[in-house]
Amino acid sequence: MSDEKKIPYKIYLDESEMPTQWYNVRADMKKKPEPLLNPGTGKPCTAEELSHVFCDELVAQELNETDPYIDIPQEIQDFYKMFRPSPLIRAYYLEKKLGTPAKIYYKFEGNNTSGSHKLNSAIAQAYYAKKQGLKGVTTETGAGQWGTALSMACSYFDLDCKVYMVKCSYEQKPFRREVIRTYGGQITPSPSNTTEVGRKILAEFPDSTGSLGCAISEAVEDATTHEGYRYVLGSVLSQVLLHQSVIGLETKAALDKYGIKPDMIIGCAGGGSNLGGLISPFMGEKLRGEADYQIIAVEPASCPSFTRGKYAYDFCDTGKVCPLQKMYTLGSGFIPSANHAGGLRYHGMSAVLSELYDQGLMEARSVEQTAVFEAAQEFARVEGILPAPESSHAIRVAIDEALKCKETGEEKTIVFGLTGTGYFDMYAYAAYNDGTMKDYIPTDEEIAASLAKLPQVNG
Ligand SMILES: *Cc1c(COP(=O)(O)O)cnc(C)c1O
Repeated sequence: MSDEKKIPYKIYLDESEMPTQWYNVRADMKKKPEPLLNPGTGKPCTAEELSHVFCDELVAQELNETDPYIDIPQEIQDFYKMFRPSPLIRAYYLEKKLGTPAKIYYKFEGNNTSGSHKLNSAIAQAYYAKKQGLKGVTTETGAGQWGTALSMACSYFDLDCKVYMVKCSYEQKPFRREVIRTYGGQITPSPSNTTEVGRKILAEFPDSTGSLGCAISEAVEDATTHEGYRYVLGSVLSQVLLHQSVIGLETKAALDKYGIKPDMIIGCAGGGSNLGGLISPFMGEKLRGEADYQIIAVEPASCPSFTRGKYAYDFCDTGKVCPLQKMYTLGSGFIPSANHAGGLRYHGMSAVLSELYDQGLMEARSVEQTAVFEAAQEFARVEGILPAPESSHAIRVAIDEALKCKETGEEKTIVFGLTGTGYFDMYAYAAYNDGTMKDYIPTDEEIAASLAKLPQVNG
Protein backbone atom coordinates (compact mmCIF):
# COMPACT_ATOMS: atom_id res chain seq x y z
CA MET A 1 0.00 0.00 0.00
CA SER A 2 2.69 2.49 0.99
CA ASP A 3 4.65 1.66 -2.18
CA GLU A 4 1.61 2.35 -4.24
CA LYS A 5 1.13 5.80 -2.78
CA LYS A 6 4.32 6.91 -4.45
CA ILE A 7 2.82 6.33 -7.88
CA PRO A 8 1.30 9.60 -9.06
CA TYR A 9 -2.19 9.76 -10.52
CA LYS A 10 -0.59 10.75 -13.81
CA ILE A 11 2.84 9.52 -14.84
CA TYR A 12 4.41 11.99 -17.23
CA LEU A 13 7.75 11.63 -18.94
CA ASP A 14 10.10 14.57 -19.34
CA GLU A 15 10.64 15.76 -22.90
CA SER A 16 14.14 14.33 -22.68
CA GLU A 17 12.69 10.88 -21.99
CA MET A 18 10.54 10.86 -25.14
CA PRO A 19 11.38 8.26 -27.80
CA THR A 20 13.71 9.43 -30.58
CA GLN A 21 13.19 6.24 -32.60
CA TRP A 22 10.11 4.22 -33.52
CA TYR A 23 10.19 0.49 -32.85
CA ASN A 24 9.46 -1.91 -35.71
CA VAL A 25 8.11 -5.10 -34.12
CA ARG A 26 8.40 -7.02 -37.42
CA ALA A 27 12.18 -7.07 -36.94
CA ASP A 28 11.72 -9.38 -33.95
CA MET A 29 9.13 -11.65 -35.55
CA LYS A 30 10.59 -14.95 -36.70
CA LYS A 31 7.67 -15.58 -38.97
CA LYS A 32 6.86 -12.26 -40.66
CA PRO A 33 3.51 -11.08 -41.98
CA GLU A 34 2.87 -12.20 -45.57
CA PRO A 35 3.78 -9.62 -48.22
CA LEU A 36 1.31 -7.28 -49.92
CA LEU A 37 0.35 -8.71 -53.31
CA ASN A 38 -0.31 -6.97 -56.58
CA PRO A 39 -3.90 -7.99 -57.41
CA GLY A 40 -3.08 -8.03 -61.13
CA THR A 41 -0.05 -10.31 -61.05
CA GLY A 42 -0.56 -12.12 -57.73
CA LYS A 43 3.13 -11.35 -56.98
CA PRO A 44 4.48 -9.37 -54.00
CA CYS A 45 4.21 -5.62 -54.60
CA THR A 46 7.50 -3.99 -55.42
CA ALA A 47 8.61 -0.67 -53.96
CA GLU A 48 8.26 0.75 -57.46
CA GLU A 49 4.60 -0.29 -57.70
CA LEU A 50 3.78 0.98 -54.24
CA SER A 51 5.48 4.32 -54.93
CA HIS A 52 2.66 5.25 -57.34
CA VAL A 53 0.27 5.19 -54.39
CA PHE A 54 2.39 6.02 -51.33
CA CYS A 55 5.27 8.42 -50.55
CA ASP A 56 8.71 6.90 -51.17
CA GLU A 57 9.92 7.02 -47.56
CA LEU A 58 6.67 5.47 -46.35
CA VAL A 59 7.02 2.66 -48.92
CA ALA A 60 10.48 1.97 -47.50
CA GLN A 61 9.01 1.80 -43.99
CA GLU A 62 6.16 -0.41 -45.19
CA LEU A 63 8.61 -2.93 -46.62
CA ASN A 64 11.18 -2.73 -43.82
CA GLU A 65 11.03 -5.95 -41.83
CA THR A 66 14.59 -5.94 -40.54
CA ASP A 67 15.43 -2.67 -38.75
CA PRO A 68 14.11 -2.79 -35.19
CA TYR A 69 14.56 0.95 -34.68
CA ILE A 70 13.91 3.76 -37.13
CA ASP A 71 14.87 7.36 -36.31
CA ILE A 72 12.03 9.82 -35.79
CA PRO A 73 13.02 12.90 -37.84
CA GLN A 74 13.67 15.96 -35.69
CA GLU A 75 10.71 17.93 -37.20
CA ILE A 76 8.34 15.14 -36.18
CA GLN A 77 9.87 14.94 -32.70
CA ASP A 78 9.34 18.70 -32.40
CA PHE A 79 5.69 18.44 -33.48
CA TYR A 80 5.14 15.54 -31.05
CA LYS A 81 6.20 17.90 -28.25
CA MET A 82 3.04 19.98 -28.82
CA PHE A 83 0.90 17.14 -27.49
CA ARG A 84 3.28 14.50 -26.18
CA PRO A 85 4.37 12.81 -24.03
CA SER A 86 0.83 11.71 -23.27
CA PRO A 87 0.08 10.77 -19.67
CA LEU A 88 -0.14 7.25 -18.31
CA ILE A 89 -2.91 7.54 -15.75
CA ARG A 90 -3.57 5.30 -12.77
CA ALA A 91 -7.31 4.75 -12.65
CA TYR A 92 -7.47 4.98 -8.86
CA TYR A 93 -11.07 6.16 -8.90
CA LEU A 94 -12.26 3.43 -11.24
CA GLU A 95 -10.48 0.81 -9.13
CA LYS A 96 -12.19 2.16 -6.04
CA LYS A 97 -15.60 2.22 -7.70
CA LEU A 98 -15.17 -1.39 -8.86
CA GLY A 99 -13.74 -2.46 -5.53
CA THR A 100 -11.04 -4.40 -7.33
CA PRO A 101 -7.57 -5.29 -6.10
CA ALA A 102 -6.36 -4.93 -9.71
CA LYS A 103 -4.22 -1.94 -10.58
CA ILE A 104 -5.48 -0.23 -13.69
CA TYR A 105 -3.50 2.18 -15.86
CA TYR A 106 -4.51 3.85 -19.08
CA LYS A 107 -2.48 5.66 -21.70
CA PHE A 108 -4.51 8.69 -22.75
CA GLU A 109 -4.08 9.74 -26.39
CA GLY A 110 -7.02 12.14 -26.62
CA ASN A 111 -5.25 15.31 -25.57
CA ASN A 112 -5.01 17.02 -28.95
CA THR A 113 -7.58 18.59 -31.29
CA SER A 114 -7.97 15.45 -33.41
CA GLY A 115 -9.08 13.81 -30.17
CA SER A 116 -7.18 10.60 -30.83
CA HIS A 117 -3.85 8.85 -31.34
CA LYS A 118 -4.16 9.35 -35.11
CA LEU A 119 -2.10 12.54 -35.08
CA ASN A 120 1.00 10.44 -34.24
CA SER A 121 0.98 8.94 -37.72
CA ALA A 122 -0.65 11.85 -39.57
CA ILE A 123 2.25 14.16 -38.80
CA ALA A 124 4.77 11.54 -39.90
CA GLN A 125 2.98 10.87 -43.18
CA ALA A 126 2.55 14.58 -43.95
CA TYR A 127 6.23 15.17 -43.17
CA TYR A 128 7.39 12.54 -45.68
CA ALA A 129 4.98 13.86 -48.32
CA LYS A 130 6.38 17.36 -47.88
CA LYS A 131 9.95 16.11 -47.94
CA GLN A 132 9.23 14.44 -51.29
CA GLY A 133 8.02 17.78 -52.66
CA LEU A 134 4.42 16.65 -53.19
CA LYS A 135 1.49 19.07 -53.57
CA GLY A 136 -0.80 17.13 -51.31
CA VAL A 137 -2.31 13.90 -50.09
CA THR A 138 -5.66 12.15 -50.32
CA THR A 139 -7.29 9.96 -47.74
CA GLU A 140 -10.51 8.50 -46.38
CA THR A 141 -12.06 9.09 -43.01
CA GLY A 142 -14.79 7.17 -41.28
CA ALA A 143 -15.76 8.67 -37.97
CA GLY A 144 -13.60 11.68 -38.84
CA GLN A 145 -10.70 11.42 -36.40
CA TRP A 146 -8.20 10.52 -39.09
CA GLY A 147 -9.40 13.27 -41.43
CA THR A 148 -9.06 15.76 -38.60
CA ALA A 149 -5.58 14.56 -37.66
CA LEU A 150 -4.41 14.61 -41.26
CA SER A 151 -5.82 18.06 -41.96
CA MET A 152 -3.98 19.34 -38.87
CA ALA A 153 -0.74 17.75 -40.06
CA CYS A 154 -1.16 19.02 -43.62
CA SER A 155 -1.86 22.58 -42.54
CA TYR A 156 1.33 22.46 -40.45
CA PHE A 157 3.38 21.48 -43.51
CA ASP A 158 1.30 23.52 -45.99
CA LEU A 159 0.07 20.55 -48.04
CA ASP A 160 -3.29 20.05 -49.78
CA CYS A 161 -5.45 17.55 -47.95
CA LYS A 162 -8.35 15.87 -49.78
CA VAL A 163 -10.57 13.80 -47.53
CA TYR A 164 -13.22 11.30 -48.67
CA MET A 165 -15.55 11.02 -45.72
CA VAL A 166 -17.93 8.07 -45.34
CA LYS A 167 -21.30 9.60 -46.25
CA CYS A 168 -23.21 8.64 -43.10
CA SER A 169 -20.50 10.23 -40.93
CA TYR A 170 -20.43 13.29 -43.15
CA GLU A 171 -24.13 13.73 -42.46
CA GLN A 172 -24.10 12.70 -38.80
CA LYS A 173 -20.99 14.58 -37.76
CA PRO A 174 -21.22 18.12 -39.14
CA PHE A 175 -18.86 19.43 -36.47
CA ARG A 176 -16.09 17.00 -37.40
CA ARG A 177 -16.50 18.22 -40.93
CA GLU A 178 -16.07 21.83 -39.86
CA VAL A 179 -12.96 21.07 -37.82
CA ILE A 180 -11.42 19.49 -40.92
CA ARG A 181 -12.40 22.52 -43.03
CA THR A 182 -11.02 24.88 -40.40
CA TYR A 183 -7.64 23.22 -40.87
CA GLY A 184 -7.99 23.63 -44.64
CA GLY A 185 -8.98 20.07 -45.56
CA GLN A 186 -11.27 19.59 -48.59
CA ILE A 187 -14.04 17.08 -47.90
CA THR A 188 -16.07 14.95 -50.30
CA PRO A 189 -18.80 12.64 -48.99
CA SER A 190 -18.19 9.08 -50.19
CA PRO A 191 -19.39 7.36 -52.34
CA SER A 192 -19.19 10.40 -54.63
CA ASN A 193 -19.55 10.93 -58.34
CA THR A 194 -16.12 12.58 -58.57
CA THR A 195 -14.32 9.24 -59.05
CA GLU A 196 -14.90 6.28 -61.33
CA VAL A 197 -15.01 3.90 -58.37
CA GLY A 198 -17.55 6.09 -56.58
CA ARG A 199 -19.76 6.29 -59.67
CA LYS A 200 -19.63 2.52 -60.05
CA ILE A 201 -20.62 1.94 -56.43
CA LEU A 202 -23.43 4.51 -56.69
CA ALA A 203 -24.72 2.87 -59.86
CA GLU A 204 -24.98 -0.45 -58.06
CA PHE A 205 -26.12 0.90 -54.66
CA PRO A 206 -27.67 4.36 -55.19
CA ASP A 207 -28.62 4.70 -51.49
CA SER A 208 -25.23 3.67 -50.17
CA THR A 209 -24.28 5.54 -47.00
CA GLY A 210 -20.69 4.56 -47.65
CA SER A 211 -18.03 2.49 -45.96
CA LEU A 212 -14.38 2.90 -45.15
CA GLY A 213 -13.44 0.42 -47.84
CA CYS A 214 -15.28 2.46 -50.43
CA ALA A 215 -13.82 5.81 -49.30
CA ILE A 216 -10.33 4.26 -49.49
CA SER A 217 -10.92 3.26 -53.13
CA GLU A 218 -11.98 6.80 -54.01
CA ALA A 219 -9.02 8.40 -52.24
CA VAL A 220 -6.57 6.04 -53.95
CA GLU A 221 -8.06 6.75 -57.35
CA ASP A 222 -7.86 10.50 -56.73
CA ALA A 223 -4.19 10.27 -55.72
CA THR A 224 -3.12 8.07 -58.60
CA THR A 225 -4.88 10.21 -61.21
CA HIS A 226 -3.49 13.57 -60.04
CA GLU A 227 0.12 14.60 -60.47
CA GLY A 228 1.91 15.45 -57.21
CA TYR A 229 -0.51 13.60 -54.93
CA ARG A 230 -0.15 10.42 -52.94
CA TYR A 231 -2.57 8.45 -50.81
CA VAL A 232 -2.15 8.14 -47.05
CA LEU A 233 -3.95 5.74 -44.71
CA GLY A 234 -4.61 6.20 -41.00
CA SER A 235 -4.50 2.58 -39.85
CA VAL A 236 -3.97 -1.03 -40.98
CA LEU A 237 -0.62 -0.51 -42.74
CA SER A 238 2.60 -1.57 -41.04
CA GLN A 239 4.05 1.95 -41.41
CA VAL A 240 1.16 3.29 -39.31
CA LEU A 241 1.82 0.72 -36.57
CA LEU A 242 5.45 1.80 -36.67
CA HIS A 243 4.54 5.47 -36.06
CA GLN A 244 2.08 4.48 -33.34
CA SER A 245 4.83 2.59 -31.50
CA VAL A 246 5.49 5.94 -29.83
CA ILE A 247 2.44 5.11 -27.63
CA GLY A 248 3.93 1.82 -26.43
CA LEU A 249 7.45 3.18 -26.04
CA GLU A 250 6.22 6.00 -23.81
CA THR A 251 4.00 3.60 -21.86
CA LYS A 252 6.90 1.27 -21.25
CA ALA A 253 9.23 4.11 -20.24
CA ALA A 254 6.62 5.43 -17.78
CA LEU A 255 6.04 1.98 -16.26
CA ASP A 256 9.77 1.29 -16.05
CA LYS A 257 10.26 4.60 -14.26
CA TYR A 258 8.21 3.23 -11.36
CA GLY A 259 9.24 -0.41 -11.71
CA ILE A 260 5.75 -1.48 -12.74
CA LYS A 261 5.33 -4.67 -14.77
CA PRO A 262 1.94 -5.11 -16.43
CA ASP A 263 0.26 -8.51 -16.52
CA MET A 264 -2.23 -7.56 -19.16
CA ILE A 265 -2.35 -5.05 -22.01
CA ILE A 266 -5.69 -4.26 -23.61
CA GLY A 267 -6.57 -2.15 -26.62
CA CYS A 268 -9.41 -1.65 -29.04
CA ALA A 269 -8.85 -2.84 -32.59
CA GLY A 270 -10.31 -1.29 -35.72
CA GLY A 271 -7.50 -1.54 -38.23
CA GLY A 272 -5.10 -2.29 -35.40
CA SER A 273 -2.85 0.76 -35.31
CA ASN A 274 -3.28 1.98 -31.74
CA LEU A 275 -3.19 -1.53 -30.35
CA GLY A 276 -0.20 -2.44 -32.49
CA GLY A 277 1.58 0.71 -31.34
CA LEU A 278 0.73 0.21 -27.69
CA ILE A 279 1.84 -3.41 -27.56
CA SER A 280 4.87 -3.22 -29.88
CA PRO A 281 7.67 -2.89 -27.30
CA PHE A 282 5.97 -5.40 -24.98
CA MET A 283 5.43 -7.82 -27.85
CA GLY A 284 9.09 -7.33 -28.74
CA GLU A 285 10.08 -8.55 -25.27
CA LYS A 286 7.68 -11.45 -25.64
CA LEU A 287 9.10 -12.38 -29.04
CA ARG A 288 12.66 -12.21 -27.73
CA GLY A 289 11.69 -14.37 -24.74
CA GLU A 290 12.48 -11.63 -22.20
CA ALA A 291 9.04 -11.23 -20.64
CA ASP A 292 5.46 -12.42 -20.97
CA TYR A 293 2.25 -10.44 -21.11
CA GLN A 294 -1.37 -11.25 -21.78
CA ILE A 295 -2.40 -9.09 -24.71
CA ILE A 296 -6.04 -8.60 -25.65
CA ALA A 297 -7.52 -6.98 -28.76
CA VAL A 298 -11.11 -5.82 -28.34
CA GLU A 299 -13.41 -5.47 -31.32
CA PRO A 300 -17.12 -4.80 -31.85
CA ALA A 301 -19.41 -7.83 -32.00
CA SER A 302 -20.93 -6.19 -35.10
CA CYS A 303 -17.58 -6.14 -36.96
CA PRO A 304 -15.64 -9.11 -35.56
CA SER A 305 -12.62 -9.47 -37.88
CA PHE A 306 -10.37 -11.33 -35.45
CA THR A 307 -12.93 -13.45 -33.64
CA ARG A 308 -15.09 -14.50 -36.60
CA GLY A 309 -13.11 -13.53 -39.69
CA LYS A 310 -10.77 -15.63 -41.77
CA TYR A 311 -6.96 -15.30 -42.07
CA ALA A 312 -6.69 -14.89 -45.80
CA TYR A 313 -5.60 -12.57 -48.56
CA ASP A 314 -8.18 -9.90 -49.17
CA PHE A 315 -8.59 -6.46 -50.64
CA CYS A 316 -8.03 -3.57 -48.28
CA ASP A 317 -10.84 -1.64 -49.99
CA THR A 318 -14.28 -2.21 -51.50
CA GLY A 319 -13.27 -0.94 -54.93
CA LYS A 320 -10.43 -3.49 -55.10
CA VAL A 321 -7.83 -0.96 -56.22
CA CYS A 322 -5.44 -1.49 -53.29
CA PRO A 323 -2.91 -4.30 -52.90
CA LEU A 324 -4.05 -7.59 -51.40
CA GLN A 325 -3.07 -8.16 -47.81
CA LYS A 326 -3.13 -11.35 -45.76
CA MET A 327 -5.13 -10.50 -42.68
CA TYR A 328 -8.07 -11.48 -40.52
CA THR A 329 -10.97 -10.27 -42.62
CA LEU A 330 -14.73 -10.38 -42.92
CA GLY A 331 -14.48 -9.78 -46.67
CA SER A 332 -13.96 -6.42 -48.34
CA GLY A 333 -17.69 -6.11 -49.07
CA PHE A 334 -18.63 -6.46 -45.40
CA ILE A 335 -20.45 -3.43 -44.02
CA PRO A 336 -21.49 -3.44 -40.36
CA SER A 337 -25.14 -2.90 -39.52
CA ALA A 338 -26.31 0.72 -39.90
CA ASN A 339 -27.16 0.97 -36.20
CA HIS A 340 -23.58 0.24 -35.22
CA ALA A 341 -22.37 3.42 -33.51
CA GLY A 342 -19.13 2.46 -31.86
CA GLY A 343 -16.60 2.89 -34.67
CA LEU A 344 -13.99 0.18 -35.44
CA ARG A 345 -15.97 -0.71 -38.55
CA TYR A 346 -13.14 -1.79 -40.86
CA HIS A 347 -13.56 -5.24 -42.46
CA GLY A 348 -9.91 -6.27 -42.10
CA MET A 349 -7.01 -5.93 -39.69
CA SER A 350 -3.33 -5.02 -39.61
CA ALA A 351 -1.18 -7.74 -41.20
CA VAL A 352 1.27 -7.55 -38.30
CA LEU A 353 -1.41 -8.08 -35.65
CA SER A 354 -3.08 -10.75 -37.77
CA GLU A 355 0.15 -12.74 -37.91
CA LEU A 356 0.80 -12.28 -34.16
CA TYR A 357 -2.75 -13.39 -33.40
CA ASP A 358 -2.42 -16.37 -35.71
CA GLN A 359 0.76 -17.38 -33.86
CA GLY A 360 -1.19 -17.29 -30.59
CA LEU A 361 0.83 -14.39 -29.19
CA MET A 362 -2.27 -12.32 -28.48
CA GLU A 363 -5.98 -12.88 -27.85
CA ALA A 364 -9.11 -11.17 -29.11
CA ARG A 365 -12.57 -10.58 -27.71
CA SER A 366 -15.67 -9.07 -29.20
CA VAL A 367 -18.09 -6.95 -27.21
CA GLU A 368 -21.59 -5.62 -27.89
CA GLN A 369 -22.13 -1.91 -28.17
CA THR A 370 -24.59 -1.39 -25.31
CA ALA A 371 -22.05 -3.03 -22.98
CA VAL A 372 -19.38 -0.74 -24.45
CA PHE A 373 -21.39 2.42 -23.76
CA GLU A 374 -22.21 1.19 -20.27
CA ALA A 375 -18.47 0.92 -19.61
CA ALA A 376 -17.90 4.34 -21.20
CA GLN A 377 -20.42 5.94 -18.88
CA GLU A 378 -19.07 4.20 -15.80
CA PHE A 379 -15.55 5.32 -16.69
CA ALA A 380 -16.57 8.92 -17.50
CA ARG A 381 -18.38 9.32 -14.20
CA VAL A 382 -15.37 8.45 -12.07
CA GLU A 383 -12.30 9.24 -14.18
CA GLY A 384 -13.64 12.46 -15.70
CA ILE A 385 -12.69 11.84 -19.33
CA LEU A 386 -15.55 11.33 -21.81
CA PRO A 387 -14.13 8.45 -23.85
CA ALA A 388 -14.49 7.81 -27.57
CA PRO A 389 -16.78 4.84 -28.30
CA GLU A 390 -13.81 3.10 -29.94
CA SER A 391 -11.68 3.46 -26.82
CA SER A 392 -14.58 2.27 -24.69
CA HIS A 393 -14.21 -1.23 -26.15
CA ALA A 394 -10.91 -1.42 -24.27
CA ILE A 395 -12.52 0.05 -21.14
CA ARG A 396 -15.19 -2.68 -21.26
CA VAL A 397 -12.65 -5.49 -21.18
CA ALA A 398 -10.42 -3.71 -18.64
CA ILE A 399 -13.43 -3.44 -16.32
CA ASP A 400 -14.40 -7.06 -16.94
CA GLU A 401 -10.88 -8.22 -16.12
CA ALA A 402 -10.72 -6.01 -13.01
CA LEU A 403 -14.00 -7.53 -11.83
CA LYS A 404 -12.57 -11.02 -12.34
CA CYS A 405 -9.68 -9.97 -10.08
CA LYS A 406 -12.23 -8.90 -7.50
CA GLU A 407 -13.58 -12.46 -7.44
CA THR A 408 -10.21 -14.18 -7.35
CA GLY A 409 -8.42 -11.59 -5.21
CA GLU A 410 -5.61 -11.32 -7.76
CA GLU A 411 -3.76 -8.00 -7.81
CA LYS A 412 -3.15 -7.94 -11.54
CA THR A 413 -1.73 -4.88 -13.23
CA ILE A 414 -3.87 -3.97 -16.23
CA VAL A 415 -2.81 -1.40 -18.83
CA PHE A 416 -5.23 -0.26 -21.49
CA GLY A 417 -5.14 2.25 -24.31
CA LEU A 418 -7.58 5.15 -24.01
CA THR A 419 -7.27 6.23 -27.61
CA GLY A 420 -9.44 9.34 -27.57
CA THR A 421 -12.34 11.49 -26.53
CA GLY A 422 -15.95 11.16 -27.65
CA TYR A 423 -17.21 14.74 -27.99
CA PHE A 424 -18.22 14.19 -31.61
CA ASP A 425 -20.05 10.97 -30.82
CA MET A 426 -22.92 12.46 -28.89
CA TYR A 427 -25.60 10.99 -31.17
CA ALA A 428 -24.31 7.59 -30.18
CA TYR A 429 -24.26 8.58 -26.52
CA ALA A 430 -27.80 9.99 -26.96
CA ALA A 431 -29.01 6.64 -28.31
CA TYR A 432 -27.48 4.93 -25.30
CA ASN A 433 -28.91 7.47 -22.85
CA ASP A 434 -32.35 7.23 -24.48
CA GLY A 435 -32.26 3.45 -24.28
CA THR A 436 -32.75 3.13 -28.03
CA MET A 437 -29.31 1.68 -28.78
CA LYS A 438 -29.53 -1.87 -30.14
CA ASP A 439 -26.96 -4.60 -30.44
CA TYR A 440 -26.58 -6.29 -33.74
CA ILE A 441 -24.48 -9.34 -34.27
CA PRO A 442 -24.06 -10.58 -37.84
CA THR A 443 -25.26 -14.12 -38.44
CA ASP A 444 -22.89 -16.91 -39.52
CA GLU A 445 -24.67 -16.88 -42.88
CA GLU A 446 -24.00 -13.17 -43.39
CA ILE A 447 -20.32 -13.58 -42.61
CA ALA A 448 -20.04 -16.71 -44.74
CA ALA A 449 -21.67 -14.92 -47.69
CA SER A 450 -19.17 -12.10 -47.40
CA LEU A 451 -16.20 -14.46 -47.02
CA ALA A 452 -17.32 -16.43 -50.05
CA LYS A 453 -16.28 -13.43 -52.14
CA LEU A 454 -12.66 -13.45 -50.97
CA PRO A 455 -10.24 -13.28 -53.91
CA GLN A 456 -8.61 -16.53 -55.01
CA VAL A 457 -4.92 -16.39 -54.25
CA ASN A 458 -2.46 -19.25 -54.46
CA GLY A 459 -0.36 -19.89 -51.39
C1 LIG B 1 -9.43 5.41 -35.34
C2 LIG B 1 -9.61 5.19 -33.92
C3 LIG B 1 -9.49 3.90 -33.36
C4 LIG B 1 -9.29 2.65 -34.16
O1 LIG B 1 -8.23 2.60 -35.04
P1 LIG B 1 -7.01 1.62 -34.87
O2 LIG B 1 -6.22 1.79 -36.10
O3 LIG B 1 -7.56 0.24 -34.69
O4 LIG B 1 -6.27 2.07 -33.69
C5 LIG B 1 -9.61 3.78 -32.00
N1 LIG B 1 -9.87 4.83 -31.21
C6 LIG B 1 -10.00 6.07 -31.72
C7 LIG B 1 -10.29 7.20 -30.78
C8 LIG B 1 -9.86 6.29 -33.08
O5 LIG B 1 -9.99 7.51 -33.56
